[in-house]
Amino acid sequence: MASPSHRRSLRKRRTVLVSAAAVAAAGLGAGIFVMNANATPVDLAHQALPAKDGWAASGSGTTGGSKADSAHTFTVSTRAQLVKALGSATNSTPKIIKIKGTIDANTSDAGKKLTCADYASGTGYSLAAYLKAYDPATYGRSKLPSGTQEKAREAAEAKQKKNIVFKVPANTTIVGVPGTYAGIKGGSLQVQNVDNVIIRNLALTATEDCFPQWDPTDGSSGEWNSNYDSVTLRGATHVWADHNTFSDAPFFDKAEKTYFGRKYQIHDGALDITNGSDLVTVERNQFTNHDKTMLIGSSDTDSVGKLRVSIHHNVWKGITQRAPLARIGQIHLYNNHYDTTTLNGYAPKYSLDSRAKAQVVAEHNSWTLPSGAKVAKLLSGDGTGSVAGTGNLVNGKATDLVAAYNSANSKKLKTTVNWKPTLTAGLQTSAKSLSADLLKTTGAGVLS
Ligand code: CA
Ligand code: CA
Repeated sequence: MASPSHRRSLRKRRTVLVSAAAVAAAGLGAGIFVMNANATPVDLAHQALPAKDGWAASGSGTTGGSKADSAHTFTVSTRAQLVKALGSATNSTPKIIKIKGTIDANTSDAGKKLTCADYASGTGYSLAAYLKAYDPATYGRSKLPSGTQEKAREAAEAKQKKNIVFKVPANTTIVGVPGTYAGIKGGSLQVQNVDNVIIRNLALTATEDCFPQWDPTDGSSGEWNSNYDSVTLRGATHVWADHNTFSDAPFFDKAEKTYFGRKYQIHDGALDITNGSDLVTVERNQFTNHDKTMLIGSSDTDSVGKLRVSIHHNVWKGITQRAPLARIGQIHLYNNHYDTTTLNGYAPKYSLDSRAKAQVVAEHNSWTLPSGAKVAKLLSGDGTGSVAGTGNLVNGKATDLVAAYNSANSKKLKTTVNWKPTLTAGLQTSAKSLSADLLKTTGAGVLS
C-alpha cells in the first residue's frame, strides 16, 4: 500500500495527470501505480489486497497469485489459453493470469464460435420437444421433468458447462490488461473450496445458460432456472473482487420469451457467495443490467460462522434485486451507490435483503431514487435479519431506511448486530460525493 510520501515522490518523478483530491477519491491505486517499501512500482497483476481492506484482509490476507514466478505468469486472449493457464483446480502454485481483450467462453478449443445449437447437437434435445414433453397441461405440476427430453437437456447442458465454467485454483490472480477491454463474455468463474483468489479489472458479461430447466414445483407457478453466475464462490475463502463490471448486456431479460406462463430465464447470479464461503471483499465493481445480482448464503442453513463479506465502493445500477441478499453472515456494506432508476427493463424490487439472522452493517451508502419510488421498498427481510448502521443518503438526504421499511412491514428488520466492523480501510464517513465519484472510479477499465 502506498504511503502519502510514496505517492508524493511518485508524482515528482512521473507525470501523473491526477490531482491529489482525485487520488484520494479514487482510493486504492486507481490510476496510479502502488509502490512497495523500496519505491518500486508494483503493477496491477502483482498487487495484493491492502491491509484492513475488508473481510478478505483478515488473518493471512489476500495476495492471490502475487508471488507467482515468471513460469506461472500468463497472458491469455482465448478460451483455450485461459483453460491452460488455470490448469488443475487443485494446483495451488501461485499464478497470475492476465487477460488481454475479451475472451468469448462460447468458443471451441480451436477458437470457433459455439452456439446453443452446437451444444445441443447430437444430444437429441430441442426446446420444442422439451416444451411438448413437460407442458403442465399434460405432464402436470407435481414433479420435476424426467425422461428422454430431460436427459437430453442434461447432456446438452453438460457440454456447455464443460466449455464455459472456469475453475479457479488457490493462490491465483486473474486480472484484465489495462487498455484492452479485458474480460470474459459468456463465462462463469468458479472459485470452489480454495483460498486466496483475486479477480480484477474484468468485464464479466453475457453469462447465459443455453438450457434452462423447468421446475413446476418452484414457487406457486413454477420457474425456469438457469445455472451460471459470472462469478460463483462456493466454500471459497480470502477472495478479493475488485474493479470488475458485471452485466447481462447485450441480451436483457426483457427480451426473454415466456413459456408455461413464466419467463424463460437464462441468467442466474452475477456474483454469488455461498456454501460456507468466507472472508470476501467486493470493492469498486459495477453491477449493472441484472436481476438476481448477489446471493450471500444459498439457504437459511448455509453455514453459521462464515459468509463474512465486505462490500464497498460499488455501483449498483439497473439491478432488480439481491444487492445483496444476505443470509447468516457478518456483512459490511459501505460507501456503495445505488441508482434504482429502471434501466433496460430492469426495474427494482429491492436493494438489500437481510434474512436468516444476517448481521448487516450498512453505513454511508447513497441511493438515487426516481420520483415516486418508496424508501420502504429499498430493503427486504424475513423478520430475523439485522441491518445496523447510519449515514445512508437517499437523493442526498440522510435517511433511516430501516425505520422506513419497518413502518411499512410486519416482518421487521432488527437494528442491532453482534459485531463491529474493524477492517474498514477507505471508509468515508460521508456518502455525499459517492454518486459522482464512483462513476469514475469503479468497474473494469479504470485501473492502469
Ligand atoms: Ca438460480
Ligand atoms: Ca447462483
